[in-house]
Amino acid sequence: MANLSWQNWSNSVMAQPHEIHRPPSEAELINIVQNANKHNSNIRVAGSGHSFVPLCASDEIIVSLDGLQGVVNINAVSHQATVWAGSKISQLGEPLLDQGLGMANMGDIDRQSIAGAISTGTHGTGKGLGSISTQIVGLRLILADGSVREVNTQTDPILFKAAQVSLGALGIISQVTLQLLPAYRLHEKTWAEPFDKCMEKLDSYINATRHFEYFWSPKEDACACKALHPTTAFDIDPSTPFTPPEGRLSRYISKERIDFSHRIYPSERNVKFNEMEFAIPAKLGPDCVRAIRKLMQENHPDVLWPIEYRTLAADDIWLSPAYQRETVTISIHQAAELPYEAFFADAEAIFRSFDGRPHWGKMHSHSAGELRSLYPKWDDFLATRKKVDENGRFLNPYLKQLFGI
Ligand SMILES: Cc1cc2nc3c(=O)[nH]c(=O)nc-3n(C[C@H](O)[C@H](O)[C@H](O)COP(=O)(O)OP(=O)(O)OC[C@H]3O[C@@H](n4cnc5c(N)ncnc54)[C@H](O)[C@@H]3O)c2cc1C
Repeated sequence: MANLSWQNWSNSVMAQPHEIHRPPSEAELINIVQNANKHNSNIRVAGSGHSFVPLCASDEIIVSLDGLQGVVNINAVSHQATVWAGSKISQLGEPLLDQGLGMANMGDIDRQSIAGAISTGTHGTGKGLGSISTQIVGLRLILADGSVREVNTQTDPILFKAAQVSLGALGIISQVTLQLLPAYRLHEKTWAEPFDKCMEKLDSYINATRHFEYFWSPKEDACACKALHPTTAFDIDPSTPFTPPEGRLSRYISKERIDFSHRIYPSERNVKFNEMEFAIPAKLGPDCVRAIRKLMQENHPDVLWPIEYRTLAADDIWLSPAYQRETVTISIHQAAELPYEAFFADAEAIFRSFDGRPHWGKMHSHSAGELRSLYPKWDDFLATRKKVDENGRFLNPYLKQLFGI
């Protein structure tokens, strides 16, 4: 049988599956799973392919849910919406706004599928805000035998805690129910300031706004800061112009704008890169970022891509990198066409020494043994996975190695 080809966003993962399916209906999706079962084939489901590691790779079957997109229903009273799992986050903002609703938080981009985003614990920034997985109140899961399970805290609290971040290892999510907020507008301010100044004021920046993050640029030793805060205003008040703390630094222009939240959160990422990110206990965040900056300045001065620093609230999701701890996430990047291995390996050693938990969709080399020591519910997750997929229908070599199976 001729092999097809699949690759991820940054081209760090190439796969040659025998079959790629794009089912137009849930019934067709179930049919694909049942057939795979009959022929003892393995299946991986892909969202937008924005993960940097081979989570979606398969040399057997890859299923895309691009045919299952859009809003299924909205409950304006409970502020909940059920959406097809293949929906890109970018497709949800306007229909939700039409019903007076918005997502509590979003990441840097909105190109991910909603199921792909929650399956790796994708998050934005905000001290009091959890990852997108914490916005989920229910899922519809196609299991290995083709049966359909409605999973939520009432029907199956154990499976729900495993499924909120599952790396696609429990089954295929066909629908997701989100808990939303009444639609809100955000006031965005961006500015740049020297690293030391930014670090001096970091706590006050984080506490003063609903969302704060910065990108530290090695070239200028400066932080491009971004603060977002809810507002009832419709537009910037020209009588109170925004005065950035340090004025301008060469490449950055201070700016501000106001719009509905889903139009403010996402940025454009047009240049391809590879990325590593670790979730660090919040109180260790400043020391960890200083150590990574020192590493870049002293040992990897050739790397010109920034460090991103964000905050994340603790949650109770078994495989969430923020499980039971207030978190800071620190990401490093390298251009997709340049070598990253030596830099990422040196940085990973530092992240390890700060008790870092790797982002599931980004590069790392943690073993199953290390992951077990970082995740108190690791064995519970593996036991739940085995219970719902005894034959490993949804595993690939990468996941087998990750889980130590
Ligand atoms: C430019 C860029 C910006 C990014 N910004 C952020 C950010 O701000 N914050 C952050 O935390 N991460 C960020 N990431 C990482 C990204 O959000 C995650 O890797 C996310 O999982 C990608 O979503 P996706 O739809 O592309 O999923 P994929 O990468 O296609 O899949 C991810 C996982 O989800 C599983 N999956 C997908 N669909 C289903 C389904 N229907 N049922 C079950 N499992 C499923 C897959 O099997 C796989 O295990 C970024 C990545 C890129 C490339």
